[in-house]
Amino acid sequence: MSKIWVHAEVVDDKIVNVAFELLSKAHDLAEAMGGGTEVEATLVGSGLEKEAARLAEWGAKTIYLADDPDLRMYSPLTFVPILAELAAKHQPDIYLFGATATGSALGPAVAARLKTGTAAHCVDLRINEEKKLVSLVPSFGGKVIGEILCPGKNPQMASVKPGIFTKKDPIPVPVQIEKLDSSMWKKLDTQGLKPVNVVRRPPQGLPLNEADVVVCGGFGIGTKENWQLVEKLAQYLGGATACTRPAVDEGWSGEYCMVGTSGQSIRPKVYIGFGISGATHHICGMNESGVVINVNRDAEAPIFEVSDVRIVSDVNSILPLLVEAVKPKASW
Ligand SMILES: Cc1cc2nc3c(=O)[nH]c(=O)nc-3n(C[C@H](O)[C@H](O)[C@H](O)COP(=O)(O)OP(=O)(O)OC[C@H]3O[C@@H](n4cnc5c(N)ncnc54)[C@H](O)[C@@H]3O)c2cc1C
Repeated sequence: MSKIWVHAEVVDDKIVNVAFELLSKAHDLAEAMGGGTEVEATLVGSGLEKEAARLAEWGAKTIYLADDPDLRMYSPLTFVPILAELAAKHQPDIYLFGATATGSALGPAVAARLKTGTAAHCVDLRINEEKKLVSLVPSFGGKVIGEILCPGKNPQMASVKPGIFTKKDPIPVPVQIEKLDSSMWKKLDTQGLKPVNVVRRPPQGLPLNEADVVVCGGFGIGTKENWQLVEKLAQYLGGATACTRPAVDEGWSGEYCMVGTSGQSIRPKVYIGFGISGATHHICGMNESGVVINVNRDAEAPIFEVSDVRIVSDVNSILPLLVEAVKPKASW
């Protein structure tokens, strides 16, 4: 019987949403594979029995649970060998990870131990005629979508950003938790290293994924001064700022607000972009937005293909005017 596994990442003792998104997708893949393919999950952490039951609500038939206070915090020295040993023993056909900061490190490390491949930051997954996993990944600067296969190896592994797949309605199955014996990690040589604390940077401004209005700056904004106008416009509209990869590379903005395959996926009611070409790497993180407005001086820019309102103009002429137009007026 074929098996699709999803690794359920835990942050602050709770399973993160991308695990449920992946479980929903895993069910579609299982249906395409046929032959009673089962969906199962792996879970590592501490005090997670209740959380494990939530996985069963989303149709994970068997949950392999490594539960121990020593595993409360992520460490590659324990998580990687545990998951690799489990996969080697149970031989899943497909193993999916969230492309979060942790999942992006954990998935490939597990793949390396299993001497298999992993397709990172996929924008879609499907099953081909040979019942093999096809991972779709933007390539060549996002100009083409590459189809990645992992012939002759199992598990076929892939990671997907949060928000790419939709968390569908629950498909409850009876909980079947397989608790793993602690000898599996007690025997590991962690060289005396143990994570003791995680310090997270406090969120700056309105979180991107909660904003109704997102103002996004691309390479075409040209200067740090224009980036400040992008921030002002977002602030005056009560929204959040986002950016493309080059805006991060130029040092105008931080990676925390990058949108796309290596950044966040957003669905604001209104997306307003300035100087963005429309590479697939970026579009796949914003194409579920409500009304999409873009300003670009190139009338042929691909971003206009996913825009409801297309403004062919120079950022330098339109951005200062817009900021001035929405600036709160003094009330006296
Ligand atoms: C593995 C990988 C992952 C990646 N992940 C991401 C990701 O998550 N997010 C992301 O955004 N990118 C990502 N990228 C990069 C991505 O492929 C593109 O290079 C990037 O999205 C392009 O950003 P841009 O549109 O801002 O810049 P460009 O492609 O350089 O486009 C700039 C646009 O601005 C316009 N312009 C220039 N000057 C002006 C002006 N004065 N007024 C008006 N318009 C102007 C131009 O006509 C052009 O269309 C990734 C790349 C790789 C290889």
